[in-house]
Amino acid sequence: MTGHEQARFAIGAAGGSWRRWHAVDLAVLGSRLDAAAAEGRSRPEVYSVCGQRCGLAQKLGPFAYGSRWLTSRRCERCGWVVAFNRGTVEQEIDQYAPDVAEREVIAAAGGDPDLLRRIFTAILADAPPGRDDEPGHRSDLLAHAARHRPVVIVCEECGESPGPATVHGPEATVCPHATVVCGACTFRAGPWAGEWEGMTTGECVVAAPCSVLTSLASHYGIAVEAAGGRTARTAGNGRSAQ
Ligand SMILES: [Zn+2]
Ligand SMILES: [Zn+2]
Ligand SMILES: [Zn+2]
Repeated sequence: MTGHEQARFAIGAAGGSWRRWHAVDLAVLGSRLDAAAAEGRSRPEVYSVCGQRCGLAQKLGPFAYGSRWLTSRRCERCGWVVAFNRGTVEQEIDQYAPDVAEREVIAAAGGDPDLLRRIFTAILADAPPGRDDEPGHRSDLLAHAARHRPVVIVCEECGESPGPATVHGPEATVCPHATVVCGACTFRAGPWAGEWEGMTTGECVVAAPCSVLTSLASHYGIAVEAAGGRTARTAGNGRSAQ
């Protein structure tokens, strides 16, 4: 793969202080810029792959795996389109895979750490492919599932420390107060909360897998293990591990 192909998708920012990182297709933008210049029109507005008006942040490098800018706030819809275009679907699936500690917490709560992967695989085998450079049925359904991914919430002390052993003793590999919630359905503090942005506030804690994932699993005939007793507990002071 040439460097040119790698750099087809740049990072775009939209949403102000609620910022999300999107992908901007430079091939599309380039032809729109050329057309505008040829017709003497002013520079066209920039749109992301998923259709958001956004600011081009080309100095942040390409929309690619390993980008330090894309470790959070990465647009799921843009992510899948870029993955299909570049043939990196396996890597895209891995983006949403829980790490070792998160797997432990999900399994301890009675959940299946591979449920999201199974749902992705079922959608990939079933949904109509469509074009590989714009959102379609398949990429948007995958993004819908990805937004409802399970998120591990740990206690406030763990949220602020390098690891659970520092807080809960050398034996602790995971926070004993950890719970698994839906990252989309659970209410979390926004930019108005300053340094507490991303915290759950207790009013609306939705255990994972939420009904979006269980509905998809049911549609595709994927067995969902019964949730354990811990999943319904609220995590009032929990801070997302993400
Ligand atoms: Zn997007
Ligand atoms: Zn959800
Ligand atoms: Zn803890």
